[in-house]
Amino acid sequence: MPATSQKRCAWAHRVRRVALAVVLATLGASASTSADGHLVRHGPRTVPRVALTFDADMTATMREQVLAGEQTHFDARILDELARTDTHATIFLTGLWAETYPDVVRRMAADPRIELGNHSYDHSAFREPCYGLPAVTTDQQRRRQVVRGARTIASVSGVTPLYFRFPGGCSEASDIQLVRSLGEVPVQWDTVSGDPFQSSAEVIIDHVLERVRNGSIVVMHLNGAPNAPRTYRALRTIIPELRARGYELVTLGELLAPDAPSE
Ligand SMILES: [Zn+2]
Repeated sequence: MPATSQKRCAWAHRVRRVALAVVLATLGASASTSADGHLVRHGPRTVPRVALTFDADMTATMREQVLAGEQTHFDARILDELARTDTHATIFLTGLWAETYPDVVRRMAADPRIELGNHSYDHSAFREPCYGLPAVTTDQQRRRQVVRGARTIASVSGVTPLYFRFPGGCSEASDIQLVRSLGEVPVQWDTVSGDPFQSSAEVIIDHVLERVRNGSIVVMHLNGAPNAPRTYRALRTIIPELRARGYELVTLGELLAPDAPSE
């Protein structure tokens, strides 16, 4: 999500990659969509599990705002609420966000409830138009966004991200293949919370609760005001309401795990 107008936004390592291949083989056409290759939009529809995901956007302009002390782009209450309610979640970090809030990132990496994903280095759009985001235009630049994002997150947190989310959700088939060729899994969503620049928590709550179903991936933002001012407030209703409906709240890794029954 930009400062402007995004509407939506060793060995163990090798073992993980193998596990990933199994995941993908298991999910097949049921959990990823076939129309656009292998962009994961949801998990198995037969199991009452939902993955809450939070994008931590940071463009160069947003970082300048933080460094100048003009505003923050992090709502710590969201992480507190996840901890208080013992809720698992996946946080998609931009590299610039990780560089801006390294202590927070290390704290998240140490929390077994939190899984870290890659949301590019500086939140550049891979394709235009994309909600007014500045865009990269060559495959070399797109590759650099994926690789530099992952490397930055790894150097700050010690965790190499497995999942990748395109800034603004904007991509073409070749971008999906590029991400896969780099060993990451491109993940979209099937449930838009609509939290960017939304001043009503009720609207966010309704968006999520009307759309969510078994296997859903919900996209929200960790930024807080001004970009996502009511996410925390909405979360205070969304988490207990989803549990009251019988959903288990899980990370993407848990949602897409090979041992999860598939359709
Ligand atoms: Zn984003």
